Amino acid sequence: MIYGLTGGIGSGKTTVAAILRDKGYIVLDADEIGREVTGKDEPLLRLLVRDFGIEIINEDGTLDRKALAAKAFGDKRKMNRLNELVQTAILCRAVEKFHKLSLSDYNKVMFFDVPLLFEAGWDRYMQQIWLVTAPEDVRIQRVEIRDGLTEEEIRERIRHQMSEEEKMERADVIIQNDEGMAKLMAQVEKAIAENLR
Ligand code: ATP
Repeated sequence: MIYGLTGGIGSGKTTVAAILRDKGYIVLDADEIGREVTGKDEPLLRLLVRDFGIEIINEDGTLDRKALAAKAFGDKRKMNRLNELVQTAILCRAVEKFHKLSLSDYNKVMFFDVPLLFEAGWDRYMQQIWLVTAPEDVRIQRVEIRDGLTEEEIRERIRHQMSEEEKMERADVIIQNDEGMAKLMAQVEKAIAENLR
């Protein structure tokens, strides 16, 4: 069974994923799989070349991410095509991994950490969705410290994500991460006790 783990920028998804792993749960990370499927010799690269040209490949056969971004940036149709190709490759690889991991125990609960789970429409494939949330100001402060971005840059990213209210309406479990680590841990333990036992 695959449970989706999501949340906006700076909400604390990665921190919750670490707590879940620590407690023995398998958590696959969509961003990490994204890096995997865009690696050298991956089938996705051929599809990207077909749409964006051979110039997106470096001499050593790896993907030239900057060249690809330059080709797609600012062109809505190309951006949509790029997202469609990459997202499909991530989903296929994730399904393959989850399938292998569940062979020994079909009912095992595993998590899929996907920052833009709702935006991608993948909520429909999840047995249950856990949303990590925090007030916008708290999220901005965390990301300012973590990534060194300005408040305006972070707000711009937030504007491109689905609103927190809508995500909360669609989620099955809401983990409020508005205070310190002790409260977050207690919230995760409560979610496990209420949903996984
Ligand atoms: P993004 O989508 O931007 O990658 P995220 O949702 O994965 O963000 P995290 O990386 O888990 O968020 O958290 C953002 C930052 O806030 C990290 O530096 C993390 O250590 C810190 N943080 C998260 N939750 C708490 C908390 N409850 N108390 C203190 N710091 C926290």
